[in-house]
Amino acid sequence: MDTVLSIKNLTKIYGNGFAALKGVDLAISRGEIFALLGPNGAGKTTLIGIVCGLVRPSGGEVLVDGGDIAADYRSARKKIGLVPQELSVNMFETVWDTVVFSRGLFGKRADPGHIERVLRDLSLWDRKDANIRALSGGMKRRVLIAKALAHEPEILFLDEPTAGVDVELRRDMWEMVRQLREKGVTIILTTHYIEEAEDMADRIGVIDKGEIILVEEKHALMRRLGKTRVTVGLKQQMEAVPPKLFPRPLELSQDGMSLSFTQTGEEDEQAVGLAELLKELASRNIDFRSVNTDRSSLEDIFIDLVGKSR
Ligand code: ATP
Repeated sequence: MDTVLSIKNLTKIYGNGFAALKGVDLAISRGEIFALLGPNGAGKTTLIGIVCGLVRPSGGEVLVDGGDIAADYRSARKKIGLVPQELSVNMFETVWDTVVFSRGLFGKRADPGHIERVLRDLSLWDRKDANIRALSGGMKRRVLIAKALAHEPEILFLDEPTAGVDVELRRDMWEMVRQLREKGVTIILTTHYIEEAEDMADRIGVIDKGEIILVEEKHALMRRLGKTRVTVGLKQQMEAVPPKLFPRPLELSQDGMSLSFTQTGEEDEQAVGLAELLKELASRNIDFRSVNTDRSSLEDIFIDLVGKSR
């Protein structure tokens, strides 16, 4: 694995004695989309803040492209773009000036062509001379993204990027994230919309109470912990499940009109289970009228995981 960001035994104890990070280890691969999920107060923003130099760690090590952020802050920070949760722009500047300024902050040579591309990609080009205070909330968020991309970072942090944004901006944002990934940019995002992580991420990390409780490739995670509930509706009432009907435990509904079972594993394995049951029913002349499958989402898995660690 080509690690672009390495976090080792990172701790943060705030001034009031609260331990927000308790020895976090995390290795992010170059070019991946990594979703960091966690309930409120889990430590996501603290973690991002430390990597971006906004929060001072209490212990541990963070390497960006092999360079220590403590020893060589400027060169590490140059490689990182951050789209923060909160609006943090000078309202009286124009869009163009604020984005150009962001690039300059990192000591990068002026490149109006790059700034233009970024603004065009974010549908901000025709507002480039507008004062930021005159923009809508969604447009202001686009400006935050443009600022984060102005210095061509290798790693982009998106902290709750879609909280409170409309459908159109959300769609544009994900399109942009995909394009950045194609260019080799590593994306680390936190989100409360777990279905977004399910759509977008290559790997999922779950943090809870300052500790990483899971890091796994998304498909492997869904395979390992995803469950499907299969329900077959019957044409005639059944009094009891016939013995040896099916190798897995079958549940008969209270009204005797449906049979259900739960399976883990990939969707195609689940289809095999269902096909076997239907074959058994047919061989016993038991007619069915409907088939329903309900697959658990990453959200169910997440709730399960975080619930267990409480
Ligand atoms: P959310 O999803 O709500 O944004 P989060 O996972 O980003 O949460 P953090 O903002 O990192 O969580 O906060 C982690 C914990 O540290 C919380 O319990 C928070 O109250 C606490 N915390 C954050 N900043 C400080 C501070 N400056 N002083 C003391 N405690 C703090």
